[in-house]
Amino acid sequence: MLKLCKKCENYHPITNFSKKTKNKDGLQDYCKSCNKIDNHKFRILKPDYKQEWDTKNPGVQSKIFRNWCKNNPEKLKEIQQRHINSWGAGVYEIKNIVTGERYIGASKKLRIRYTEHFTGNEKISNKNLQASIKHYGKKLFEFKILEKIADTNLLLKRERYWIGKEKPEYNIYLYHQQ
Ligand SMILES: [Zn+2]
Repeated sequence: MLKLCKKCENYHPITNFSKKTKNKDGLQDYCKSCNKIDNHKFRILKPDYKQEWDTKNPGVQSKIFRNWCKNNPEKLKEIQQRHINSWGAGVYEIKNIVTGERYIGASKKLRIRYTEHFTGNEKISNKNLQASIKHYGKKLFEFKILEKIADTNLLLKRERYWIGKEKPEYNIYLYHQQ
């Protein structure tokens, strides 16, 4: 089924329109790409709009979000799962951009590992790296994916390969301490 976009005046499949329950057909007047351009222009013209709105309407945004989560548990789960798996598995490097020191590790869920490192999850982290992040602040560290690995059975092997090749400082210090 097709619908006319009131902005670009083209007919698009109805899947190219977002929902708008107030409209008779339940769809927005503008197609998704026109909406995207409009939103983009608006953000450039009024960059502080969102923050201003939040200040004028304290707590409303988070309440809307909480309600949405409560009413859409399946969808929320799906989004969280998609987020968790979004970077896949692989070998990564964390680099102190002041000293150049590096740490190399591997994870089945790179996206989660990234968050864990920078929120100080002591269980998974290298003590030297952890101390260094505490000292310099997380903004002075870069996270880089060295290799994405589809077959997670190869993770350990590939991690060893990268550590042997790059000799990352934080990993090596730990080795000497033990
Ligand atoms: Zn359009």
